[in-house]
Amino acid sequence: MTASVKVMKKPKRTIAEQSYVKEVGKGLGLTIGRFLKNTFTEDNDIVTYRYPEQKRTYPRRFRGIHRLTQREDGSPRCVACLCCSTACPAQCIHIEAGEYAEGDPRYGYERYPEVFVIDELRCIFCGYCVEACPCDAIRMDTGAHMPPSTSREDFLFDKEILLSLPAQDGTVLTANPRHEPGDASHPGIDREHGH
Ligand code: SF4
Ligand code: SF4
Repeated sequence: MTASVKVMKKPKRTIAEQSYVKEVGKGLGLTIGRFLKNTFTEDNDIVTYRYPEQKRTYPRRFRGIHRLTQREDGSPRCVACLCCSTACPAQCIHIEAGEYAEGDPRYGYERYPEVFVIDELRCIFCGYCVEACPCDAIRMDTGAHMPPSTSREDFLFDKEILLSLPAQDGTVLTANPRHEPGDASHPGIDREHGH
């Protein structure tokens, strides 16, 4: 059996085509055109953000740096129960509990954080602290990430910093209601009336 061989004709090209000068010129023209458009005009196809001038709005559920939510009177909602620091796998939350002063309706009923520090450098942003909190006192809805710093101290966020940071919508509170001890609408217990 003889094999049939098909002989292909060599395509004819002119000298200009063979040199590819025209095609190289077209390619360079396209590249330079895109470069000029993307560099000097706002109306371009670039999807890269010019950070830090341009910032991306993070999704609502983005886990940003922490904040401590406030009550209406500006005091922390945190009752220093230590649930968050216990749940934290990175052990980066340090809390020292304090007692409210005698005469305060919260005295003997709940505590407050005298010291509350989060080491944002050690944090792995797992969100366990937020999940563990029974008071909606700690949140990660700031929509902000840690700004760069060369000092470790800058990553230690104390109570004052944490209380001052707002959520993405600007509030330092939370929409979840909270009934205070002694509050007429308080559905639970108080110190005088049992468990
Ligand atoms: S996000 Fe995770 S690692 Fe960070 S403080 Fe909360 S529990 Fe700890
Ligand atoms: S932030 Fe929440 S979980 Fe942590 S100590 Fe305060 S009340 Fe407890």
